[in-house]
Amino acid sequence: MKIVFHQDYCRTYSSDPAATPGRMEAILEELKGLEFVEPTPATDDDVVLVHTQNHINCIKRMPQVYEIALLAVGGAIKASQIALTGEPAFALIRPPGHHASPDSCWGFCYFNNIAISIEKLRRNGVVKKAVIVDIDLHYGDGTANIFSSIPEVIYHHVAGGPRENFLTDLAAFLDSINECDVIAVSAGFDRHEQDWGGTLKTEDYQNAAEIIKEFSEKTCMGRRYAVLEGGYNHNVLGKNVRAFLEGFEW
Ligand SMILES: [Zn+2]
Repeated sequence: MKIVFHQDYCRTYSSDPAATPGRMEAILEELKGLEFVEPTPATDDDVVLVHTQNHINCIKRMPQVYEIALLAVGGAIKASQIALTGEPAFALIRPPGHHASPDSCWGFCYFNNIAISIEKLRRNGVVKKAVIVDIDLHYGDGTANIFSSIPEVIYHHVAGGPRENFLTDLAAFLDSINECDVIAVSAGFDRHEQDWGGTLKTEDYQNAAEIIKEFSEKTCMGRRYAVLEGGYNHNVLGKNVRAFLEGFEW
């Protein structure tokens, strides 16, 4: 497994919780010893695969944000390319992306990293059908909007509610999928019992990742990657990412 990361993700590009100083460092601390690779920034040609030129122009008016948002997209693209070789990958990136719709964004997101990476694979003809599973506390309205009229890409946000529902819902959803060429995970960690959602235990992330790993091995030759979305309690975020990656394939 490879971790896609760039030192520039440690930069503070805004005042929102995803951009807080120390957030990336808290995760890095737990991932020592893993193999890291560096992404290059995406281009407007990549971003326009899912966003309007008007939206791109809006983000360009915030030069610092625009620069780091392109690098985040580049991280997701790199992870998707690694996954296509059969090796799992995790994009340790920010800003997050799942609240970025074609022509708007909110919730600390600017460009939809995971959606662009999937769409790039599809346009290049290397995959036809894709599944995106979102385990973040929040519904990825941006991702859902982008793929609402594209039946080849199935977006699923794992149900909220009590802790017991989480793994059951994830497994039931994946059981309903007969074929896909790659699975991507919007990996947010804000459902944790010590984060905003107050629900999941750290071990649940490992179990979720194992379910996804088994699905990918059965269905799409193990092609799987995950992209960081939310997760805001620096005291537990690193441990939760680590647990997820242990299940995804340490
Ligand atoms: Zn969230």
